[in-house]
Amino acid sequence: MCWSGTLSPRQHRSQDMSSHGRASATLIRPTPHCSLLPTRSTLTARPRTPHQPRSRWGGPAPGPMATRPAIGKELLPLSWRKTLPEEWVGRALFRRDPSSGKAVLTTPPRLWWYPPGARLLYTQPPATAHAFFQRPFFLWLPYRMWAYHLKCPADGGKLMGAGLYKTVRRVLDRSGWYYMATENLQCPSCGKKVAGWSQDILEQLDVAHREEFPAVLTYKLSCDRAVIAMLKERTLGNGVSRLRASLVEQHSRDWMQHSISYLSVLRKLRRPGAAQKDDVSLRTLLKVPGLTWIGRVYVLEAVTRLDETKARLTSIFGDILMSDSTKTLATSTGRCSCPSSPRPRGTD
Ligand SMILES: [Zn+2]
Repeated sequence: MCWSGTLSPRQHRSQDMSSHGRASATLIRPTPHCSLLPTRSTLTARPRTPHQPRSRWGGPAPGPMATRPAIGKELLPLSWRKTLPEEWVGRALFRRDPSSGKAVLTTPPRLWWYPPGARLLYTQPPATAHAFFQRPFFLWLPYRMWAYHLKCPADGGKLMGAGLYKTVRRVLDRSGWYYMATENLQCPSCGKKVAGWSQDILEQLDVAHREEFPAVLTYKLSCDRAVIAMLKERTLGNGVSRLRASLVEQHSRDWMQHSISYLSVLRKLRRPGAAQKDDVSLRTLLKVPGLTWIGRVYVLEAVTRLDETKARLTSIFGDILMSDSTKTLATSTGRCSCPSSPRPRGTD
């Protein structure tokens, strides 16, 4: 990461991005003061087209921008380009600052970003199959979005925003994978850096905001909580094996559907008499993790809900104890209407 020296809040909202990653001559080169998170004073709202059609993801339908090659990738932070195959994220999340020429986050920030997807009608064969396999993107910026006063887990100092976290995570969902990114936070006192999705940060958020975070993180991969919720169904035979088989089937079906759409467009636009292309490249169908990993994620999710479970148990036992003590009191004073309860003397 590159840093801008003094850790004032405004400076940290305009912190830089990591410079790790492959770079070409035309890509953005981070400088010690490169700024992908703009200051609030310099942010301007993106104009919205009033009658813009929507795609199947709910985002704006792809226009000429969707077929423009590689522009989105140039806007992405360098460290994201290695692991994020979704070039549309660059166009959706970032824009070039006209004064500095640097890529900055568009405003307002929001959690979920949906891809434009494939066009409804093609008059030329698409250059790549990317548009047919795009997936949603999740952006988690608790400090920037909700202005929390987050504390350093080491010494309790106030954390400041320090740009975007350099790693993009891949999350297992029911019908495929999606990617998510977060911000980097730093303590001015001890210099400790914390990712916005770390457990230390999530535990400081209120319940409503914490519930917005969709995934359980493991060392490499992540799992959407909707997948884990499928394990909680109390139906006969429900278990890790059945869940994995179901995920494999849904992922394969989704991949097959997108592949058919892409190949169908190529077939329709093939010139009469032209030879069939042999080098059609489809996006690789990513493997669903094994049973051990899914079981471990289920346990991890249960551990994060331990306090909630304890509170619920205390509440239930409290109700039982309260009910029992009320009954004992009513019995001793003769107010209990239960026929088996003893009546006090002199009331017959
Ligand atoms: Zn600290």
